[in-house]
Formats: sequence, structure tokens, C-alpha cells
Amino acid sequence: MYDVNAIRADFPILAREVNGKPLSYLDNGASAQKPRAVIDAVTQAYEMEYANVHRGLHFLSNLATDKYEAVRGKVARFLGAPREEEIVFTSGTTEGINLVSYGWAAPRLEAGDEIVLSVMEHHANIVPWHFLRERQGVVLKWVEPEADGSLPAQKVIDAIGPRTKLVAVTHMSNVLGTVVDVAAIAKAAREKGVATLIDGSQAAVHMPVNVAEIGADFYAITGHKLYGPSGSGAIHIRPERMAEMRPFMGGGDMIREVSREAVSYTDPPMKFEAGTPGIVQTIGMGVALDYMMDLGMENIAAHEARIRDYAREKLFGLNWLTVQGDAPGKGAIFSFTLEGAGHAHDISTVLDKRGVAVRAGHHCAQPLMEHMGVTATCRASFGLYNTEEEVDRLVSALELCHELFA
Ligand code: PLP
Repeated sequence: MYDVNAIRADFPILAREVNGKPLSYLDNGASAQKPRAVIDAVTQAYEMEYANVHRGLHFLSNLATDKYEAVRGKVARFLGAPREEEIVFTSGTTEGINLVSYGWAAPRLEAGDEIVLSVMEHHANIVPWHFLRERQGVVLKWVEPEADGSLPAQKVIDAIGPRTKLVAVTHMSNVLGTVVDVAAIAKAAREKGVATLIDGSQAAVHMPVNVAEIGADFYAITGHKLYGPSGSGAIHIRPERMAEMRPFMGGGDMIREVSREAVSYTDPPMKFEAGTPGIVQTIGMGVALDYMMDLGMENIAAHEARIRDYAREKLFGLNWLTVQGDAPGKGAIFSFTLEGAGHAHDISTVLDKRGVAVRAGHHCAQPLMEHMGVTATCRASFGLYNTEEEVDRLVSALELCHELFA
């Protein structure tokens, strides 16, 4: 049984007040709060177990290395990856996608080759591809979502042409909560010899993910949205693709030998992890993944589906509120604007006075904003610890906005 109150007690920050009101933290899409287990693990790592990793000539270095490397297996288990060697640690999704852009795509794609993207992508899954457009004439091919915010897999598949080398799409929109059938896209792309990169930043937080079943070539996640520390993350890479990749960054840890004349590299995945990594952040991410796996991703998804349904009914019931997107099976992420009201930032300021933390702005998704005909929205994004009562607090704070601004 999913005891949300017991879960909330694991997150110290949720007990605090903001502006004299109980905190309703509805900005999980931007970054999630951390359970005590993660906070304690980070403290323990710095207090008692800290040293650099992979340089193991003393006790603490070996201990830190063991704890750090154990996370690779946890990420593999969390993502359903067959082997932990298929996991590369990153500082987050942004680094993961840049690794693919510089390490795999840049050496292979030529002028006129295409990358298929959806208009719903986060800038982290747009800008690295623009770099290739600017530098080597790669063509970006955009797929638009439907009016309800859904993105049919077939539409993405139909955009694949003879020059397409990569399809890069999100598994869940950070603005609309739309879930994309990435398995169908990956299967069709594979049949056409086209690689797929899936941005799992949001989906992996809210639903069970199995990269073996999805079958994409690259699947990127970011630790701070997964209730872990910022500066942690990982990307799952299929071995065939890993073998094709060039290192993106050079430095310590990723080499076999360096001389004045030449350099040779260590084996993957460490070949792609140059320099001192986010040691403690990664250890913290491992604890966060354990926390989520202990709760059970199916249970988290079921809880959030209840919150989504409740919030959907309440928010769509406000006839002065424009809620963007309503794709079937979407995640518990809602973007909205108020008819005749001030800018999204004004709304979020009023909500903040009521202790309700939401995001306002373009959410690093400007092509989607343009597609929707808005410059900014407010976004309430729910997580594993949110409650129906917090939805009610959001709604009553929105009613106050309506009174103030309408
Ligand atoms: N992709 C999506 C869908 C996101 O929501 C985010 C974060 O907001 C990112 C990518 C970038 O993640 P990070 O900034 O942790 O690298």
C-alpha cells in the first residue's frame, strides 16, 4: 500500500513553510526534492568515505570507487539494461545528449543528412543538433504534436527519409506530460537503419522504463529529477553504438596510455568519462534510484495517475483557465495560462505567496511555445510525494489569481 504521508516524512523539506504557508512543491519537472536517505548518503560520503575514484592505492579511494561503481549496476537495473557496461555516467541529460552529438553524430553525419526531432523537445535535445546544423549542414526535420498535445509514433516514423540518420525524441514532454510511444519509433527506425536517441529525463521519473524493451540506441536520464543530487546522470548506450563512438571529452581516467606522440583509450564506458566525475552526486543518485525501486515504479506511476486524474478534473473545471494539451495517458504535468490575466510570472508569484511552487516561463521548450502560440505558461508538475490536498491548494491559489487579475 502506497502511504504518501509516510513517503512525505522521508523528505525533510516538505515539512517547511514558505511565505508562512505549508509548502506545496509542484515544480518537480524542474528538479525534485531529496529524501533523507539521499541527504544522509551525501553527508556520509563526504564525512567518512571521500577520496578520488579509480586511483585506488589506499583504503578510502577503493571504498569510494566501490560505492561509485556500484551505481552503474543500479542504473542498469533501474533502466532494465542487460549489462552495466552499457551505462555511461554523465552530469545529467544535457551532457548525455551532447556526448551523443559530439561522440557519435558529429563524426558520422554529413551535410544534407537529417535528424528528426519533435517540436516538443527540451532545448537539451535541440541545441546540440543545431550545433551540427550550424557546423556541418545537418538538416533538422521537425514533427509537430497534435492539437491535444499527443505525438503519434507514426507521425515521427513517417518523417524518416532516406537521408535520416537519427531520430531524437522525448519519452515524456516536460511541458505537457505527453508520453510518446518510443518503442514503436525505435523499432521502425531500426528497421530503416536509423539510430534513435530518447530523452528520458521526465519519463524515467514517473513510469517504469525498460530500455531493452524500448530498443533505442541511446536513452538519457538526469539524477536531480530522480530525487538525487544535481550534477548526476547517466545514458544507456547500445554496445554497437558505443563501439562506433569517439570520446567527447579528453582527460584523466579515460586513457590507456598517453605519450608525446599518441594516445590510446581505455574501454567503454569509462572511455567516455573523462576527468574526476561527480563522485558523491553519483553515489547519491544510486541511493535515490534504490529509494524509487523500493517504492516500486509501478506504484509510483499508479499514485501519480490518481493525482493526474484529480488535477485534470479540477483544472479543466476552471473555465477561465487554458490548460495546454490533454493527451491520453499523459503524466502528471500541467501547463496553463489564465484568460485575461497577467504574465505567467505574475501568476507564479501569487501562487508562491500561498506556498505553491510552480514554474513559469518557456520551460526550455521555445519551439513548443511558438507552436502553442504562447510565450510562456505556468507549469504544475507532480511527483511521488504530492497529494490531492496540494492540488486543492493549487486550485484555490489560482482562484485568487483569477479574482486579482481578471
Ligand atoms: N530534457 C527534458 C525533457 C527535461 O525536462 C530536462 C530538464 O529540465 C532536460 C532534458 C535537461 O536536463 P538537465 O538540465 O538535468 O541536463
